[in-house]
Amino acid sequence: MIDLRSDTVTLPTPEMRQAIARAELGDDVYGEDPSVNRLEAMAASMMGKEAAILVPSGTMGNLAAMLTHCARGTKAIVGSQSHTNLYEAGGASALGGIVLTAVANTDDGEIDTHELARELGTPADDHFAQPSLVVIENTHNRCGGAPIKLSHTAEVAAAARRRKIPLHLDGARIFNAAIALETTPKEIASHAETVSFCLSKGLGCPVGSLLCGSREFIARAHRTRKVLGGGMRQAGIIAAAGIVALTTMVDRLAEDHQNARALAQGFALVAGLNVRAVANRTNMVVFDVDGDADASRRFAAAMKERGVLISPREATSFRAVTHNGISRADVDRAVAAAAQAAGEVFGD
Ligand SMILES: *Cc1c(COP(=O)(O)O)cnc(C)c1O
Repeated sequence: MIDLRSDTVTLPTPEMRQAIARAELGDDVYGEDPSVNRLEAMAASMMGKEAAILVPSGTMGNLAAMLTHCARGTKAIVGSQSHTNLYEAGGASALGGIVLTAVANTDDGEIDTHELARELGTPADDHFAQPSLVVIENTHNRCGGAPIKLSHTAEVAAAARRRKIPLHLDGARIFNAAIALETTPKEIASHAETVSFCLSKGLGCPVGSLLCGSREFIARAHRTRKVLGGGMRQAGIIAAAGIVALTTMVDRLAEDHQNARALAQGFALVAGLNVRAVANRTNMVVFDVDGDADASRRFAAAMKERGVLISPREATSFRAVTHNGISRADVDRAVAAAAQAAGEVFGD
């Protein structure tokens, strides 16, 4: 199977499996797992922050960040199309009493700065829930994996700073963003007080995310992680793979971006498929198909029959993601399969 549904389907590399087998371990709830401590130090340094904490998932990284930053009854301002708004099961509200407040995302994944200014202008009056955090996302998953320009990030950060509230960056795919923007994760994260990123996507680890920030913030996040049941014992098993990921799997993401570009170009030539443009594409291709929801389902089934898996989005759109398990030859096969499947479903 050529599995283009997500970069989360990546499997650990042989080097990761060896590192896992040999990992030096201890009890991380006591702060005694040397592999976790090494990974956290590496992550903090790469993000330009004082400290970092390993958490089981990106969802917990963002949740721990929001619960640590925001008091109950205050507002976390998030993008309308963001992962925190759409795909984290309302955790910040359910568990933290935080008022998740969405401001519009533009198609390129930026936040509408006029709406943001209006939210940040909330009067300091007993009637109003007070803003306590702004959250941005880079790359922007729902907006086609778009990397967000540093100038926009700086503008949002300046607006938050004027209101004296922190900025959290959901950098699940920050390394993809850094490569696409020809900069470093540190530079991107420099605008935010805290940043989270995933080891388990393009970097290929089986599990794990990191939340990075000041020493004082991460100390408080330790307690939050414990509350959420995310304090893991010999988590060096996870961290060992993470260390391999940060040393060997970052630069190769450029290959995924090239493959996504080739996939987008191939799909664009197939009658019946309409690829959505992304300025500076990373590892995702979002496309719409001609016809109705039923035709769309038949297209996905016809792709699957030809050994290609894609991820449904809206009724007549799909997402395809390139990753370490996808070669250039797989891309060519996927394009050929799409041409056949589209001919079968949308041809006359
Ligand atoms: C995947 C993702 C997350 C959450 O990561 P999980 O490890 O799946 O919980 C958070 N934010 C963005 C933008 C993501 O793409």
